[in-house]
Amino acid sequence: ARHFLARAKARHDLGAYVALNEELTLAQARAADARIAAGSAAPLEGVPLAHKDIFVTRGLPSSAGSKMLAGYQSPFDATVVRQLAQAGAVTLGKLNCDEFAMGSSNENSAVAPWGHPGPAPVRNPWDRSRIPGGSSGGSAVAVAARLAPAATGTDTGGSIRQPASFCGITGIKPTYGRASRYGMIAFASSLDQAGPMARSAQDCALLLSAMCGPDPDRDSTSLDRPAEDFSRALNEPIAGLRIGLPAEFFGAGLAADVRAAVDAALGEYEKLGARLVPISLPRTELSIPVYYIIAPAEASSNLSRFDGVKFGHRARDYTDLADMYCKTRAEGFGAEVKRRIMIGTYVLSHGYYDAYYLQAQKIRRMIVDDFQNAFRHCDLIAGPVAPSVAWKLGEHGNDPLANYLADIFTLPASLAGLPCMSLPAGFGAAGMPVGLQLIGNYFGEAGLLNAAHRLQ
Ligand code: GLN
Repeated sequence: ARHFLARAKARHDLGAYVALNEELTLAQARAADARIAAGSAAPLEGVPLAHKDIFVTRGLPSSAGSKMLAGYQSPFDATVVRQLAQAGAVTLGKLNCDEFAMGSSNENSAVAPWGHPGPAPVRNPWDRSRIPGGSSGGSAVAVAARLAPAATGTDTGGSIRQPASFCGITGIKPTYGRASRYGMIAFASSLDQAGPMARSAQDCALLLSAMCGPDPDRDSTSLDRPAEDFSRALNEPIAGLRIGLPAEFFGAGLAADVRAAVDAALGEYEKLGARLVPISLPRTELSIPVYYIIAPAEASSNLSRFDGVKFGHRARDYTDLADMYCKTRAEGFGAEVKRRIMIGTYVLSHGYYDAYYLQAQKIRRMIVDDFQNAFRHCDLIAGPVAPSVAWKLGEHGNDPLANYLADIFTLPASLAGLPCMSLPAGFGAAGMPVGLQLIGNYFGEAGLLNAAHRLQ
């Protein structure tokens, strides 16, 4: 813990951490040492971890990258945080993310990283002039730059996989409902899912085993499925495994360098005896408009709780209640969050609901069916995580659509609630890391982790 705390502080230029509490970390580490000495060590005893700042934590502020929650102290731990602590993990600190997890570049955080006087971008350790990806950018950077052995992330439409890919690490989003959402500051509740980000599939398996499990009293969408030992199936042979390659993931939009790295990784699978099977996910392109209707719709509802009354920021000067709401929300939310609240409110409003939200829900159902059709021909699906390597800070400037379009390969599995992951596949343009995406059928996490482990 001391080593990683020192690393975190020494590399504050990367902007990964937003909060440290050394006293708390060292107290937890000493308690872990005592349990090890007493011979009662839990599976992750003494392993230092850092949490994305979207998880609420006691003893450390929880801001979700927003001015709205700057300095907010939660009276309780998120279920995932509690479960990891029960498994012996020691909390190093909180990690930067896009505001309310809305973003693909981590450029949307309104919070000052640790050691910085004001908001500053999270930098990709492979090239500090590039974005780390988002929204779990701080988590990916902390692991890639060895500021933490592993971290938690959340993935609503790609936020574990894409930053993992851009920073050259491994991350997995389990089947929707496997990990409790209790204490994860909500963005889009039908999509949000927690998962680990680490150096290897093996480490992800250890963490995921502690993160999953039913939480019926606190998250009604958590599934009644017992926690599993995801390490058990690592090292299984994959000869005969059918890996589906969706034609739509390898089309014109895919950069040649990314394609080359992904092809090389697929070639390795063939050498291990896997079979590459052409498949189709015909509604891949539609996943962008569908996601960017459903996610903002849910966000507009979830974020209505930030009204200046219950917690978080409240405007100083106001004339009456309505004025207080308006000023609080105008001051507290950043531009991207406001954009999504407006889109979400619009698509849910009378007269537009049928044209947008309902249509999107119908197509979401078809995307689910497309995957089930594909899984008749293959055991898992592989492809790129993103169309390009990490882009330059500021490159997408004021063009939110450029960010949205880059989510094309991660959104389909999110909309279907399928388990999916990113593992390092090599390097592309400018020596930047490229990730390989693997998508499994429901509850196929163990198989995904095994397949990833075979390449590592
Ligand atoms: N990039 C997507 C978005 O901006 C996904 C974010 C996420 O998974 N949290 O919504």
